[in-house]
Amino acid sequence: MTPFTPPTADQLLAIRVNAGIDELATTERFAHAEPDLVEAIVEGVGQFAAGEFAPLNRIGDLEGAKLENGVVRLPEGFEAAYHAYVEQGWNAIASPLAHGGQGLPFTLACNVLENLGAANMAFTLLPMLSVGAIEALEHHGSPAQQAMYLPKLVSGEWSGTMNLTEPAAGSDVGALRSTAEPVEDGEHAGKYRITGQKIYITWGEHDLAKNIIHLVLARLPGAPEGSRGISLFVVPKYHVNADGSLGPRNDLRCVSLEHKLGINASPTCVMSYGDNGECIGELVGQPNKGLAAMFTMMNNARINVGNQGAQIAERATQQALAYARDRVQSARAGSPDKTPVAIIEHPDVRRMILRMKALTEGVRALLYFCAGQVDRGNLGDEAAKTRGEIVVPLLKAWGTDVGVEVSGLGIQIHGGMGFVEETGAAQHWRDSRIAPIYEGTNGIQAADLVTRKLGLDGGEALIALFETIAREAAEEFALAALARDCANVARWMQGEASLDDRLAGSVPFCTMAAVCVAGWQLMKQAAAVAAGAAPELAASKPVTVRFFLDRIVPEAAGLKAGAVAGADLLYALPAEALVG
Ligand SMILES: Cc1cc2nc3c(=O)[nH]c(=O)nc-3n(C[C@H](O)[C@H](O)[C@H](O)COP(=O)(O)OP(=O)(O)OC[C@H]3O[C@@H](n4cnc5c(N)ncnc54)[C@H](O)[C@@H]3O)c2cc1C
Repeated sequence: MTPFTPPTADQLLAIRVNAGIDELATTERFAHAEPDLVEAIVEGVGQFAAGEFAPLNRIGDLEGAKLENGVVRLPEGFEAAYHAYVEQGWNAIASPLAHGGQGLPFTLACNVLENLGAANMAFTLLPMLSVGAIEALEHHGSPAQQAMYLPKLVSGEWSGTMNLTEPAAGSDVGALRSTAEPVEDGEHAGKYRITGQKIYITWGEHDLAKNIIHLVLARLPGAPEGSRGISLFVVPKYHVNADGSLGPRNDLRCVSLEHKLGINASPTCVMSYGDNGECIGELVGQPNKGLAAMFTMMNNARINVGNQGAQIAERATQQALAYARDRVQSARAGSPDKTPVAIIEHPDVRRMILRMKALTEGVRALLYFCAGQVDRGNLGDEAAKTRGEIVVPLLKAWGTDVGVEVSGLGIQIHGGMGFVEETGAAQHWRDSRIAPIYEGTNGIQAADLVTRKLGLDGGEALIALFETIAREAAEEFALAALARDCANVARWMQGEASLDDRLAGSVPFCTMAAVCVAGWQLMKQAAAVAAGAAPELAASKPVTVRFFLDRIVPEAAGLKAGAVAGADLLYALPAEALVG
């Protein structure tokens, strides 16, 4: 596997142009996000990721996480790298000052994860899940819960998990069956006894952090059926004493680890709560409002998973580029020189490399645009908040689809060596494949776009976004046409289309919309580079943006037929007839 080189220049460009970090730094809250600090963070975490996390990517894949006598062990090196991560303060970038965080924009926390995840996606799920737990407690925890859990979660000394999924409750979270019974007397009076099994819990058990703070969805006695009867609980692996020291172990355990296609260093745990009837948790927020609380963390978690698309695409592209410049096969057909050349000289390999680069940069542009909207939303800008909410499913679904496509192209560029494991190209593709599945499958993201997001601001917000793009891209004909197509599909969906029609066209529409917004943001990058920003990218950026606008945007326009085709044909055959 080739070493990881942080794409610092492109990240800084996206942070400036697409997130608008300089404008964020003009506000009181983010005044310390000055250019020097931003550069120091992006360069610093890039070097840290390349030096500490990347060398563990291969061994993490080969050896993976192992369950030994109830304890999950990671290969050698993981513990030291995690401690270095905590000691250097990378976990605390965007967390609130009040709990020991650095109070910087979410945009910069995205950059920390982007670098760490490109270096080692499986390992980076550990800090990524902790961020979600921090957010849930920050927004919904009581002052006592915040004081007890947040400082150590923010520093990274403790880690966090989210526990939604159960065997019969996947996409349909409302079907979950875990229970929480109030404790009436004794030392845990006022708390709850949690019972149930959760599956697929990422980093549910390990020994890198001193305590693991599980956020668990469960039902109170007599709770309504479905998603209206779910409550959120904080359930520590070790009880925490009033002085903050660790008490005895809670009654929860990792029953087994899943054997998976990829991200082998990320322990995916079957967790059992309350085998002995003594698993104690505390209610977070209001009874039966757990799903809403969980959604607080899911919004940013979806951005962080979309980010994984950029991460794996970057790493796969670097790997493929190194191979394509090294591997010699045949003379270039269109050249009079018949000396064999490196495969990067062949037109089809060039096409694949440029596609990989353009798609990767497109997802990165979309990621930082989305992060910048979240930061503005946190400052009270309601329009930006809404725009961020619209972009989240686009980023999560298209970003992760790009991760799979680009890492697949990476294998293709390696030829047979891509299919054998020793180059490492296959690992990127295997690792990438989970991202379209977890944190709400991409089908569920697209459904969110054509239901909740389609109706935001009485349906105006989505149309306004596409109209802005059509106007600003007036001289980029393909992009402007795509933006008008997106607005027309949205109007059709808001009007005559049935719910089935909308859902039938949701995935093609989601891709169209994502490519449209990404193309718009890349167009802004190209303009900034033409005006002198990022001189290191002066040669490459105009080419990758042109490739995106001339080749990827027209492909997305071709999806319109599927977006407005309606549901009738999908149901022309009964399910039994599809079998035979
Ligand atoms: C490696 C890994 C790590 C994970 N980490 C966590 C974790 O930390 N915490 C946690 O709680 N969960 C976690 N998950 C669970 C993950 O979020 C679920 O797998 C995911 O939400 C899908 O649920 P499911 O697997 O039950 O699939 P299903 O819900 O059975 O879906 C199967 C297929 O049907 C489609 N589908 C289902 N319902 C609908 C519908 N209404 N409309 C349209 N299509 C639909 C889906 O899109 C999908 O294509 C993890 C899973 C994996 C594999």
